[in-house]
Amino acid sequence: MAHKVCLIRGDGTGPELVQAVETVFKVAKVDIDWIEVQAGLKCVEAGKPIVPKETIEKIKEVGVGLKAPLTTPIGTGSVSPNVTLRKRLDLYACVRPIRSLPGVPTPFDGLDLVIFRENTEDLYAQIEYMVTPTVAQSIKIISEFGSERIVRAAFEYAKKHGRKKVTCVHKANIMKIADGLFLRTFRRVAEMYPEIEATDNIVDNQCMQLVQYWKKYDVLVMSNLYGDILSDLAAGMMGGLGVAPGANYGEGCAVFEAVHGSAPKYAGLNKVNPTALLLSATLMLDHLGEVQAQKDIEGALSATLSKGVKTYDLGGTAGTQEFAEAVASELK
Ligand code: NAD
Repeated sequence: MAHKVCLIRGDGTGPELVQAVETVFKVAKVDIDWIEVQAGLKCVEAGKPIVPKETIEKIKEVGVGLKAPLTTPIGTGSVSPNVTLRKRLDLYACVRPIRSLPGVPTPFDGLDLVIFRENTEDLYAQIEYMVTPTVAQSIKIISEFGSERIVRAAFEYAKKHGRKKVTCVHKANIMKIADGLFLRTFRRVAEMYPEIEATDNIVDNQCMQLVQYWKKYDVLVMSNLYGDILSDLAAGMMGGLGVAPGANYGEGCAVFEAVHGSAPKYAGLNKVNPTALLLSATLMLDHLGEVQAQKDIEGALSATLSKGVKTYDLGGTAGTQEFAEAVASELK
């Protein structure tokens, strides 16, 4: 029976990235019934909310979604559609595997990390106001409930996948109350997993440690903003935003999306790398229990990259669609 999956085509380069994933999935041995739902700039242009209610309801009903990036106006305008989706669907665990890819050489050989980013709290509560005409305030929310469920998710993942170490990333030396709560919760939960080493680092030190001693780290868990920033840092170590996949999990619902944004300056140019969205789609296959199809697509992707077929960001000349067709022909 076909798996039902909600599909958001996204803004900017989103639609061409989705087309690339469709090209590969058409020849993969997996039956997906794609259900298109709307979100993003097109909704705003049509006078609708940036994430319409029917989109939330459909994803909740179906339980699985694949989402291309959505544009958020910077500095002014509407709230982030990405944050809105994560919060309204309560997709609290953002999971980002960061590993070396065959055919994508970087100075960081043997890279194999998993970032767990809390997805619903912190400064992403989007509670901001002007205290006076010249002073602004943003509210950072950290709860014990929110901290505990992301920390547990990281330890459960480590246990299931035979990972040896979980590191908490924080700034509890400065934000003693908010980050202090996150760190205390981490230490309490860690006691329930004595077989897994539990360590912690201050976020600025963690950035340096990742670049110099990446092999010392395994699973990393952190609140929302640090997770956002470290994900891009780690994506760069992996070969760039074009190759870093991600997944957002909640209770009974999961939405898969790349780490990168809508890269609007490349929209319509058939230029950007579809690897990140394609690898996000293979995380979705794992979630659906389609492990063989996941392995087949990842194998075809590795073979394509190893043969030197690459988009501009990896030093190649292939366009988005040409790259997708090369992956598809490896699968045939
Ligand atoms: P971005 O990730 O869209 O792009 C930054 C740069 O990274 C691009 O200019 C490009 O050089 C490179 N890049 C990104 N994706 C690539 C790909 N697939 N292949 C090759 N190179 C790629 O970040 P930005 O420019 O800061 O943000 C643009 C828009 O995306 C903003 O509106 C932002 O809010 C939104 N955004 C959305 C998401 C999401 O949908 N989850 C995430 C981050 C940013």
